[in-house]
Amino acid sequence: MTGRPKTYVTDGGTDVADESPSFDATVYYEGDADGRYIDDETVAVLGYGSQGHAHAQNLAESGVDVVVGLREDSTSWAVAEEDGLRVATPADAAEQASIVSVLLPDTVQPAVYEEAVEPNLEPGDTLQFAHGFNIHYDQIRPPAGVDVTMIAPKSPGHLVRRNYENDEGTPGLLAVYQDATGTARETALAYADALGCTRAGVVETTFHEETETDLFGEQAVLCGGVTELVKAGFETLVDAGYAPEMAYFECLNELKLIVDLMYEGGHMGMWDSVSDTAEYGGLTRGGDVVDRDAMDEILADVQNGTFAREWIAENQANRPAYGQYRRAEREHEIERVGARLRELFAWGGDGGEPRA
Ligand code: NAD
Ligand code: MG
Repeated sequence: MTGRPKTYVTDGGTDVADESPSFDATVYYEGDADGRYIDDETVAVLGYGSQGHAHAQNLAESGVDVVVGLREDSTSWAVAEEDGLRVATPADAAEQASIVSVLLPDTVQPAVYEEAVEPNLEPGDTLQFAHGFNIHYDQIRPPAGVDVTMIAPKSPGHLVRRNYENDEGTPGLLAVYQDATGTARETALAYADALGCTRAGVVETTFHEETETDLFGEQAVLCGGVTELVKAGFETLVDAGYAPEMAYFECLNELKLIVDLMYEGGHMGMWDSVSDTAEYGGLTRGGDVVDRDAMDEILADVQNGTFAREWIAENQANRPAYGQYRRAEREHEIERVGARLRELFAWGGDGGEPRA
C-alpha cells in the first residue's frame, strides 16, 4: 500500500448526527492501492453474469490479465469472447490464475468450488468473493494457505461497468477473511482499484457484517419489505373499492419519486419536498405499519443461520417453495394492473413518470 488508509469520521454537522454514534470506518481511495499486487497476476473471473462481466471487462481494461471461467455449454462463452476476453472452463481458469474471483450465483458456488477451484488453489493464491454468504455460513471452507477476500461493489454489475466506462467509480466494500500471505488486504485493494471502486471509495468491513447486513436489508427493507408494503397498500385501497389504477399509481409508481428524494437528500430532503399535509400525516401514521418485533426475528434468523439453512435446503430440494412464492407474486393483481398501465402511459422507467 502506498499511502496510509484514510479514516473517515463524520463531523456531525447537524443536531441529528450529533446524537448518533460516529461512523469510524476505514475508507480507501485510489492513492491507497498498489497495482503491483495485481499487475503481474492472472485473475480468473468465474461467471459472466451481472457482476462477472463487469469485473472481467473492467479488470482487463485496467491492464490485468483476465481469464473468464465458464461451463463449456454456457451461452456466455461466445459473449465473453466477443467482448475480447479469454475464456476457459472454471477448472482451467482457476489453474491459470493466482486470484480466483467467484462471481457465480451464491447457490452454485459450493459445488463449482469443490469440483473446479479447490483442486487448483496453490498456497499464496487469493480466493475473492463479492458476497460473504458461502464463507460466513461455512459452505466453502478454503485451505489455510490461501488469502480469502471480498470486494463487493454496492451496485448491480451493469452500473459497475457503466461507471468505469464513464471514468466514475462505484463504491465498494472490502473484507479480509483469511490473510495467509500477510498482503491479502493489498491484493484486494489492487483488485478494487482495477475494478474502479477506489475512485468512489472502498469501505472496510468483515464477511460477517457484510453477509448479515446484506441479507437483513434485502429481506426486511429493500426487496421483501418494500414489495410487501406496496402490495398491502394496494390491496387496502382496492379492497375498499378504489380503482386499481389509482392504487397502483399511489402505492407503487410514486414510490420511485419519493425514494429519489430520499437518495438525494435523506429523509429531510424528502420531507422538505412534499406538502406539509403529507409530512404531518406521514410522521404521525407511518410508524404504525412497521413491526419492529418482526424485524428482530428476521435479523435473528439471519444471525443464527436459520435462514441460511432454509435456503440451502430449498435449493437442494430444487426450490419447491421458491417456485410457489414466485408464481403467487406473478399472479398478483398489481402485476396485471402495472403491465396495462405501463403500456398506456409512456414512461421509460428512467424517471419520466407522470406525477400522481
Ligand atoms: P448472475 O446470476 O448474474 O451470474 C452468474 C454467472 O454464473 C452467469 O454467467 C452464469 O451463466 C454462471 N453460472 C451459473 N452456474 C454456473 C456453473 N455451474 N458453472 C459455471 N458458471 C455458472 O450472478 P451475480 O448476480 O453476478 O452474482 C455473482 C456474485 O456477486 C454473487 O456472490 C452475488 O451475491 C454477488 N453480488 C451480486 C450483486 C448484483 O447486483 N447482482 C451485487 C453485489 C454482489
Ligand atoms: Mg444485496
